[in-house]
Amino acid sequence: MIEFQNVSKRYPNGFEALKDINLKIEQGEFVAVIGLSGAGKSTLIRTINRMHDITEGTLTVDGTNVMELQGKSLRIFRRKIGMIFQSFNLITRTTVIKNVLTAFVPELPWWRAFLGVFKKEEKIAALEALDKMGILDKAFVRADQLSGGQQQRVALARTLAQNPQIILADEPVASLDPVTARQVMDDFKRINQDMNITVIINIHHVELALQYASRVIGIREGTIVYDGPSAQVTQQVLDSIYQGKREEAAV
Ligand code: ADP
Repeated sequence: MIEFQNVSKRYPNGFEALKDINLKIEQGEFVAVIGLSGAGKSTLIRTINRMHDITEGTLTVDGTNVMELQGKSLRIFRRKIGMIFQSFNLITRTTVIKNVLTAFVPELPWWRAFLGVFKKEEKIAALEALDKMGILDKAFVRADQLSGGQQQRVALARTLAQNPQIILADEPVASLDPVTARQVMDDFKRINQDMNITVIINIHHVELALQYASRVIGIREGTIVYDGPSAQVTQQVLDSIYQGKREEAAV
């Protein structure tokens, strides 16, 4: 379980991006975080794996106080949490399989990472992850030869190879066309349901959020203004989240 207790986040320039957040997310939930650009969605999800440090309150994941982790314990903790970005973050000039194998790099002795020497089990795990994402046939293709949707699947396979408990996704479908965006959302749903991995997605497509997530968290100016089932999100709720400025939020 992920738990925020009175969490605030102030950036070094003094700007308070999160204000007194209280939240509990159980293992296996599919949560969409919605709100206007600049509302604090990305900051919220990036505090969970300590890409950003909180500045007040307590944030725990399975009882571990995230702010107390450092060095090796932080590296081990981060392995439980996959991260997916809008821009896929692949090494585009190398093969798909090598991209997935980078999931194992943090645990390798330096010389194996340096030489790119991977064990048979690691190679099998990487191929299995590609198979789960339906792109095993692309294993030996260079990543930059793939479409955007396929590249996001490779990123998901790399995350799955890490055997994560939680996947955080920061605008994962924002650079994809509407049809491909739905296919990638289907992938998230399948991963969530079949593997009981908690999925937390920061997304500006409201329709996709409501269709795929079971729970929606609406943020406005660093404050949670809605937290509940996606089925209960009304126009009034959307108005309070988007303050009537929804043009950029439309699908
Ligand atoms: P969203 O994901 O909802 O678009 P963000 O979490 O990226 O919003 O940003 C929330 C607010 O925090 C914005 O006003 C943004 O300008 C500000 N912000 C983000 N990163 C920094 C930073 N490194 N330093 C100062 N302010 C920041």
